[in-house]
Amino acid sequence: MDRFSKYVKEMFEWNEEMRDFLESEKVGEESELWGKLNGFTEMMEGLGHPLSDLDLLNLQTKADTIQQEMEEYFKRKQVIGDIWMMGTSLPAGGHTLPDLPYPYQALEPYISEEIMKIHHDVHHRAYVDGLNKAELSIKKAREENDFSLINYWTRELAFHGSGHYLHTIFWKNMIPQGTVGPHGSLITEINSYFSSFELFQKHFSEVANRIQGNGWALLVWSPRSRHLEILQAENHHFFTQWDTIPILVLDVWEHAYYLQYKNNRKQYIENWWKLINWNDVELRFEKASELKWQEF
Ligand code: MN
Repeated sequence: MDRFSKYVKEMFEWNEEMRDFLESEKVGEESELWGKLNGFTEMMEGLGHPLSDLDLLNLQTKADTIQQEMEEYFKRKQVIGDIWMMGTSLPAGGHTLPDLPYPYQALEPYISEEIMKIHHDVHHRAYVDGLNKAELSIKKAREENDFSLINYWTRELAFHGSGHYLHTIFWKNMIPQGTVGPHGSLITEINSYFSSFELFQKHFSEVANRIQGNGWALLVWSPRSRHLEILQAENHHFFTQWDTIPILVLDVWEHAYYLQYKNNRKQYIENWWKLINWNDVELRFEKASELKWQEF
């Protein structure tokens, strides 16, 4: 069975599971979720053979949307606690390489099949393997209480983690032929912050073009300033793991402790733990953990 028939078969099974799940949770028939799922079922049943790439993309996008709406729905309901959709989190070393959402040659003539094959199968896979290895090594360090190599592994964690997360976003940011857009609140936001879509696009391209050496251009949302921003990442790590949200941070610049502690940073760190406002940390965690992407 080829990859796409396998995917469709999985979609059928998933659809069945979702129906059973809504029934077992006694979600009323009037609920929007049933409407969406029925629409999805109809779409599945109406699929022609063989499937076009577009059919598959449609399927995938719809399934993603329904899955997210279900999470939202049950989060609001709050009556059944931790249902499986909310509960899945990856164990250390549990990352997998996501399939490309389209065939290798689908982005031609703009990006060649050869590039896509190497980029996805070789480079992206190496990031996934490297991230798993880093997470497991760090877990081992904790278990054995041996942190002598923690700088090395934390660096690996950032390098491979950013590589894996950014490529996972990158593949799905693209689609053969592109779509018309942006629409809705995104275009409103772009127009209001960057003045116009044309200026945003120009700015983004300039930023990408002027990156020194390897790197990424990123359009990001800043929850603090509540506007979009365009950033550069050189290589893609320098100790950050893109696609993560800070919860608890400690400033160990010398200006933060030197007047009082001189070179005794260790003492400063030890004392700092006596000052934590866990209410604040919990709040940040609660808010941040509301944001969930499909796990890979
Ligand atoms: Mn790449």
